[in-house]
Amino acid sequence: MTRIDNWEYNLGMKVIFPGSFDPPTNGHFDIMNRAAAIFDQLEVVIADNPHKKYLFSADERFEMITTMVAEYPNVQVTIWRGLIVDFAEKIGAKVILRGVRALSDFDHEFELSMMNRALNPKIETLFMPTDQKYFVLRSSGIKEVALFGGDISEMVPPIVEQKVLARIRKQGKQPGSQG
Ligand code: ADP
Repeated sequence: MTRIDNWEYNLGMKVIFPGSFDPPTNGHFDIMNRAAAIFDQLEVVIADNPHKKYLFSADERFEMITTMVAEYPNVQVTIWRGLIVDFAEKIGAKVILRGVRALSDFDHEFELSMMNRALNPKIETLFMPTDQKYFVLRSSGIKEVALFGGDISEMVPPIVEQKVLARIRKQGKQPGSQG
């Protein structure tokens, strides 16, 4: 087998971590934290799809994630309305990172990675398994828990908890009330 001599090639390794982050959770933050320790530069990409309905605008999601990663010099946050592989190509990143929880995530993630590979074979997808503490955390679940008055303080950073509770109040729903 021939060794792939790509030391120089890999210097300054950039990775992108795309997602909806609606809202960002401690599970997302754990992946960001661990990725920032491995890669030279981590670009968190907030996907903003005009056909999708979000609880938070892209700017609000940007603000929350920027606050979460404020102390990380090698993490940047961007809003992107387009194909993720195009963003990766644009900034010269060769790796897309996705977090996976249960096997049920894997099905969808695997398909997505195949699609991205077909779109641009130069860009690889890597999966990082969740920490078991965040195994059951998902953004949609958090919104529901908050809506029904449950405590989300262990599931999201403080900035996100404040924003979720404020949004629920603004929508005229009392946390804990139904409907
Ligand atoms: P998307 O809509 O692109 O799936 P999400 O915001 O739901 O965006 O998730 C972004 C990425 O973070 C995905 O790779 C997802 O699998 C991963 N992720 C979500 N929740 C967790 C968690 N609790 N632990 C680890 N990874 C997670």
